[in-house]
Amino acid sequence: MGNDHCGRRQFLQRSAVSVAGMSLAANSTSGVASGAPSGNAASPDGQPQHTDAPDVTDKVDVLVVGGGTAGTIAAIQAARAGAQTLIVERNSQLGGTTTTAGVAFPGLFDAWGKQIIAGIGWELVSESVELDRGKLPDFSKVPRRHWQNQVRVNQFLYAILAEDKCAEAGVRIAYYEFPRKLTRTAEGWQVDCVGFGTQRRVLCKQIVDCTGGASVVAMLGLPRLREEQTQPGSIRFMLGSANSPGRGALQSLYVHGADSSTSRSVTAANLEGRRSVLAKVRHRKRRLMHLQPETGFRESYRILGETLITVGDYTSGRKFDDAVCNAFYPVDLHTKRGVKPKPLAEGVVPTIPLRALIPKNSRNIIVAGRCLSSDRLANSGLRVQASCMAMGQAAAVAAALAARRGTTPLKVPLDEIHGLLREHGAIVPKST
Ligand SMILES: Cc1cc2nc3c(=O)[nH]c(=O)nc-3n(C[C@H](O)[C@H](O)[C@H](O)COP(=O)(O)OP(=O)(O)OC[C@H]3O[C@@H](n4cnc5c(N)ncnc54)[C@H](O)[C@@H]3O)c2cc1C
Repeated sequence: MGNDHCGRRQFLQRSAVSVAGMSLAANSTSGVASGAPSGNAASPDGQPQHTDAPDVTDKVDVLVVGGGTAGTIAAIQAARAGAQTLIVERNSQLGGTTTTAGVAFPGLFDAWGKQIIAGIGWELVSESVELDRGKLPDFSKVPRRHWQNQVRVNQFLYAILAEDKCAEAGVRIAYYEFPRKLTRTAEGWQVDCVGFGTQRRVLCKQIVDCTGGASVVAMLGLPRLREEQTQPGSIRFMLGSANSPGRGALQSLYVHGADSSTSRSVTAANLEGRRSVLAKVRHRKRRLMHLQPETGFRESYRILGETLITVGDYTSGRKFDDAVCNAFYPVDLHTKRGVKPKPLAEGVVPTIPLRALIPKNSRNIIVAGRCLSSDRLANSGLRVQASCMAMGQAAAVAAALAARRGTTPLKVPLDEIHGLLREHGAIVPKST
């Protein structure tokens, strides 16, 4: 398959929202029943009335949308690079799939006996293991099974440590909020966000979309890729009598059709996931010791980027000219029948090019995480956490430098990106 070719099972999906308005459907705001913030004036009968006026305005260099696996790292990196940074997260904590869905075993930071991903993701993971008195894998040993070198982290501690590192770097955090409307400005973007009881206007130069399914890219009407049938999500829980919170190995149940794209689809996945956990409890007659608050979503949308990584690129370990980080994991596609990981050939270490993080024909926006531009099979390996963290760091460096230079990420000289990444401890693939 050529580099810009989309696989047979993929189809291009234009966003359902209008390109002109660049806004979500008008179901995202409503009046506030009590304690109305300053932007929402009271009507003559004393009831608060909704207006479009924001309660808060933030002027920043970089806005990171989605504080999950990739977004957390992106925000810390952007701020450490000197960019004024705000992160907007629809949920109540940082970490996304790593914490809220309880997939607390990030991989893979190593390949073939050496570390291939480091930087801020590794800093956070290794410090949280140390603080939890856990044990790090020995990367000089090649394990028999790939998952043996995934790093077990305490999801609760990881989320708090992530907040601590954000505070230290100067990242501002806005939980329970999400973008509602985007408008281009001379300097970049005006992003109107909504939360419960509050509206925020963000004026920023660059956006890093780390929402998992590229929601902001969709709001701009830029094309995304999606399969007709996607991989199942999983809900994670623990049955039994002994549980060691933050340590115990959780069990998983597939949630077929799980889709992270909208509040409605996330609600449906959570209801379905919890129903099957309840059925399990009834059937097994064992106590429910732990349940994650949200389903983990493996797949939804991916962007169509300036470059599309094919499974051939991935399995051959193609060294892209504009590679910004490594990745490593078997091809790992989950179906109704389960998963049969296909390990990479010995010595192969795939790379991720900057152009796979940049939506085609876009300006002032870059993505990181599982939504990177890739075909389905390549994505099944690229979506893992260490790779998402490495992408987050690289995307943030490109965004911070673009903000500094008054340009777009694609136009930032690659050697500057590489230089700043190395300065912040990341491993940059060697060009061949
Ligand atoms: C069940 C399961 C098992 C897995 N197993 C492994 C494994 O063994 N090893 C491994 O390394 N990886 C594994 N993965 C893959 C990996 O965990 C994910 O692909 C990866 O964490 C995705 O990172 P992300 O940053 O792209 O998305 P997420 O971590 O999901 O982050 C997205 C964030 O964006 C927020 N968000 C979404 N939309 C909006 C919006 N509009 N506004 C504001 N915020 C928004 C979400 O709340 C979330 O916090 C697994 C995944 C699942 C689901």
